[in-house]
Amino acid sequence: LQTPFLSLSLQAKMSRPVQAQRLEGIDKNIWVEFVKLAATYSTVNLGQGFPDFPPPDFLKEAFVRALSVENYMLHQYTRAFGHPPLVKILAQFFGKLLGRDLDPMTNVMVTVGAYQALFCCFQAFVDEGDEVIIIEPCFDCYEPMVKMAGGTPVFVPLRPKAPKDGKLMSSADWQLDPAELSSKFSKRTKAIVLNSPNNPLGKVFSRGELELIADLCVKHDILCISDEVYEWLVYDGKEHIRIASLQGMWDRTVIIGSAGKTFSATGWKVGWTVGPDRLLQHLRTVHQNSVYHCATVAQEAVAQGFQRELELYGKPESYFVQLPKELQQKRDWLVQSLDAVGMKPIIPEGTYFLVADISEFKSDVPDVPNSDEPYDSRFAKWMVKNKGLAAIPLSAFYCGSHKNNYDHFIRFCFAKEEATLKAANDILQKWKREKTSP
Ligand code: PMP
Repeated sequence: LQTPFLSLSLQAKMSRPVQAQRLEGIDKNIWVEFVKLAATYSTVNLGQGFPDFPPPDFLKEAFVRALSVENYMLHQYTRAFGHPPLVKILAQFFGKLLGRDLDPMTNVMVTVGAYQALFCCFQAFVDEGDEVIIIEPCFDCYEPMVKMAGGTPVFVPLRPKAPKDGKLMSSADWQLDPAELSSKFSKRTKAIVLNSPNNPLGKVFSRGELELIADLCVKHDILCISDEVYEWLVYDGKEHIRIASLQGMWDRTVIIGSAGKTFSATGWKVGWTVGPDRLLQHLRTVHQNSVYHCATVAQEAVAQGFQRELELYGKPESYFVQLPKELQQKRDWLVQSLDAVGMKPIIPEGTYFLVADISEFKSDVPDVPNSDEPYDSRFAKWMVKNKGLAAIPLSAFYCGSHKNNYDHFIRFCFAKEEATLKAANDILQKWKREKTSP
């Protein structure tokens, strides 16, 4: 039965636009699609970046202790800008790394993962019309977050240079062109996003590269949003250099970190920002008007994890020493598996990730000329459906106009149990046999 009143109100509802304009063009998200595909088809998932092994025992035990202590206050709200024990130990730890005294209350803020830290930065610093320089390939949320804040992302790609003498390429072979980078800075530039070690390439920016970026930031008076979530995952004796430690950079840099990557507990979603109060005060404004509190128990456990790591700093028992060693070995296994089948790996200097060149597999998944979808995306979908192996197309880490320049690579995550990597190797070997047998 329809009353005239009901049909009128329905009509009114249908004709009113519901979507805020700032969401235009950012509604698609690669992860929603690829996570679903991996869940449906994959037997081996080297797609999304999370370990399939547990966090260290000391961290799990700290969580259980925090849950079960008499102090029921750990089940309640804590300080909005960070649980006091966590901001205190982070100030101590990062103070030591940066060689400066940090005030836990003003130089550190805890967030819901590094993701929320990034969101706070863009909301706090970017105005309508501001430009933000983003180095590609990049973690894919930077672009929509800049746009949601009303800013304009300006992309500058790392340029690959093939190594001589037929060696495998390294992430270090992907470099910024200094002239190209400097041409992106203008009066409209407000900030640059730096992600070292970089997702997806695993590039660890060298001191020289960081100095180039730092000099441009100082010259043009620009902020640096430094996403360092993979700071402990650096291989082959390479050093992670914090851009905030370079001359003139502390006052203009926000360092972003994540307990997810630091302690192999991505589901806890504990992240943080470290920086000068003149910048963090504005992050606090965004935080207090959006998320406000982060889970107390998880913060307490992470605080205890850092306490342990501070005591063991640089010692062989330290998790920050052990984890990169284990991951380096996993990286090497995957490099070997991929190299053996002709899916050329780009050896990463850091992170969970390895990018591989799929050019030699083009005959298996023929190109569709003039398709809107980049080749690597179709390849990754075909691979998960037909081979049961999930990976992420590299084009997902480029803006719309650069996607097709980098469409013959896929990204694997090697932060996985030995058995998972072995299963991936079996798939690749079988595939290779099928390719070569007549
Ligand atoms: N930055 C980078 C470069 C990342 O790869 C990730 C996670 N994949 C994040 C930030 C988000 O970290 P979190 O899980 O702590 O929110």
